[in-house]
Amino acid sequence: MSKYRELTISILGGGGEIGANTIEVCYGSEGILLDCGIHPKKEGYEALPEFDMMSRFPDAVLVTHGHIDHCGGLPYLTRLFSHFRVHATLPTIRIMERMLHNSVVVMSTLRRERGIVEYPLYNHEDVENLIEVTRAHLYKEIFEVSPHGVIKAMFNPAGHVLGSASILLDIEGHKILYTGDISGGYQELLGPYEPIEWLDCVDTMIVECTQGAVDERQVNPYFDEALNLAGAINEVIDRSGSVLIPTFALGRTQEIANILARLQEEGVLKKVPIYLSGLGRAIYEIYEQFKEYLNEKSILRPLRSFRKLGNVLDKNVVNQLIGEPSIIIATSGMMVENTPSALIAERMVMSKHHGIFFVGYVDPDTLGYRLLTSEEGDKLAFQLDAEPVEVKLRNIRRFHFSGHAYRSALVKLIESYNPENVIVVHGDPPALEWMREHLKDNYNCIVPGNGEKISFQV
Ligand SMILES: [Zn+2]
Ligand SMILES: [Zn+2]
Repeated sequence: MSKYRELTISILGGGGEIGANTIEVCYGSEGILLDCGIHPKKEGYEALPEFDMMSRFPDAVLVTHGHIDHCGGLPYLTRLFSHFRVHATLPTIRIMERMLHNSVVVMSTLRRERGIVEYPLYNHEDVENLIEVTRAHLYKEIFEVSPHGVIKAMFNPAGHVLGSASILLDIEGHKILYTGDISGGYQELLGPYEPIEWLDCVDTMIVECTQGAVDERQVNPYFDEALNLAGAINEVIDRSGSVLIPTFALGRTQEIANILARLQEEGVLKKVPIYLSGLGRAIYEIYEQFKEYLNEKSILRPLRSFRKLGNVLDKNVVNQLIGEPSIIIATSGMMVENTPSALIAERMVMSKHHGIFFVGYVDPDTLGYRLLTSEEGDKLAFQLDAEPVEVKLRNIRRFHFSGHAYRSALVKLIESYNPENVIVVHGDPPALEWMREHLKDNYNCIVPGNGEKISFQV
């Protein structure tokens, strides 16, 4: 009998795209999932990972961080079977709990407003059941994740958002490093990923490549871009306008709030009130609870430094808000219809003296993108059931802040662990293609699609 056994890595989501990121790792009779996300652009059951491709029920799910494309499918998994554990860092567990309860609310609203009968895919009780089976781990702590202890794991700081981690797996000597979402540079609150110093090489790396198509030399460095943003905001304030910054609730909200607060303290940015919206505030509280996970040199301002948005469903509240110069940081980042950023933008675009500044990725299929590329006089609907509004505002721009490593940093990261196999996931086609071209000569480089299985003898 051969002493080798087969190790299989199956891509259940996030292959060839940024989707419902979920990777199954099976060895002998043991199996785990790395992340279990939900597709940010699909709806209903379509948004779930390809659970029917799973070889077996997982013994455990390891979660890299709390973005919904990495953990949004988990409560649904508890409906399919209940005998598994979830492992994550403590901040990620707290964030995940908050994000998933919010998903239930969003899905229930979509069912009401748009008649998507499959929604909600799970309820609050499913989220609570999930949190029950979750175990917290410190960074760099090695723990067993399969019943017979064959698969060992470790979380390592990834620099992406609070509590985010890469995952190192050791399966009878075969080492797999899954980057999760990873940042190579300093952000306002987080330092870059940390190398695993005692580890010279790994056998297989699974690498995200969100920014794989971007040459770092062609984008403004993070802190220079912060100054550009401040300059653009000052111009709007000088005209007595207000600025809307649509943001993701986790990561970008806390970053931008603290960048702007610092620039106000330094006298670079004019002192006007800064407002933060609901889910962004809730996640901010978790940042406050786990300050020790942030870069030790960074200063997290108390949440009370930022004002609360009122009920933005009320037009009078929004009109009052933008009647005085202010900066409004509001979800959602890509301005999905009916979210606070869309409701505020709906009033702002009627005049010319405001500014709407995007600070993250804006997908071409979203209202945010349509607004960003709109021309004067175009009509856009900001609410699903309301009349379109004529866009008079022209000061609509995008600034580049990223919590993901650019391509040179990704290649450097891969080189530092000298793996035999590199599996590239979590990217748009140009990013995946660039990675394939630049890795194929030195590594066994695989760019799998969803549903693909990759096997090694271990
Ligand atoms: Zn992420
Ligand atoms: Zn992601």
